Amino acid sequence: MSMPDDWHVHYRDGNMLRMVTPLVRKRFWHTLAMPNLDPPIVTNERASAYKEAIHTSSPDEHDMYNKPTHVSLYLAETLDPQEVANAPEHVKAIKYYPAGLTTNSEKGITDPSALWTRGTRAHEVLCAAAEKKIVVCLHAADGKNAHGVELDPYDQEPHFMAESLPRIRDAHPKLKISAEHLSTKQGADYMLKHGGPLLGCSLTAHHLLLDRRDVFRGGFRPHRSWMPAIQSIEHTEALRDLAGKGLPFVWLGSDSAPHSQAKKESDCCASGVMMAHAGIELYAEAFDNMNALDDRFENFACRNGARFFNVTDGHKDKKRPSIHLQRLKWKVRKPFMVWNDTDELQHYDVVPFRLGEEIEWTLS
Ligand SMILES: [Zn+2]
Repeated sequence: MSMPDDWHVHYRDGNMLRMVTPLVRKRFWHTLAMPNLDPPIVTNERASAYKEAIHTSSPDEHDMYNKPTHVSLYLAETLDPQEVANAPEHVKAIKYYPAGLTTNSEKGITDPSALWTRGTRAHEVLCAAAEKKIVVCLHAADGKNAHGVELDPYDQEPHFMAESLPRIRDAHPKLKISAEHLSTKQGADYMLKHGGPLLGCSLTAHHLLLDRRDVFRGGFRPHRSWMPAIQSIEHTEALRDLAGKGLPFVWLGSDSAPHSQAKKESDCCASGVMMAHAGIELYAEAFDNMNALDDRFENFACRNGARFFNVTDGHKDKKRPSIHLQRLKWKVRKPFMVWNDTDELQHYDVVPFRLGEEIEWTLS
């Protein structure tokens, strides 16, 4: 098959970035890097520097300069609409984070109504994005209801789909919107009804492979913990159904999000798990389980996102290459070791998804 694209990946920074990049670049052609670094990326200058850091963090064998890397800006209160208006070609998206709902989201938007209320900076940013035809990627979750009451984490996405997304779309009818890492039946239903040239969504492998029982089997499993959380089986089945329909507005976004083992196995477990070591193999498994390992898989992985984000197959005179996937089991044997950024004698481990377990497909 053609080399796929990943439209939602956390490369991180420092030595973590150096560990992650070769794994991602071995598997994916276009990638969209998420901006929730500390501090978040809110200027084009930093976005460009981050793109360069991604390029220089990979060994030559992955030919980084010939692979298209796209970056996103973080929709913080401090993001200047002028930055969006002046964004260079490689800034392909603005990422919306509801404040406090996921990793490094503290600088995000505290009141989602800012997105559809004239006169706010966030509204101006979305207007600038529509004008410039830059996609706005939404972490599609609300933290509170209309009365200011904190929502149950399992209700955050359904609330956003019912209350916030329709208002954003009404206020910005020309804006291209991607609802990221859909996790619920309500999200899937919304897409089936409204998905099209201006609205699409990314799906992760973990939301297609797991349901809530897997997260609590034998006790709480921190290395199966994400935001948005894995929901009950009827939600997983709705997402599988959406993915298996072969619709043009549904694409691959792995949300590979590595953390140190200590941050995962702590009093406050960090959200997200590294998927990059098997970034496409896990999707092959999910689509194989759905009997959809045909052109629906290739469109999902290689074409739909590229069309939506308005990128071409070629890059610097190089055409999109091919990869070969084989139904061959392998075991994830070891955590990944990362040297500490501040103390070069210290290192820490990153536990990848399915450590100690098998993955059904191999990239050869
Ligand atoms: Zn993410």
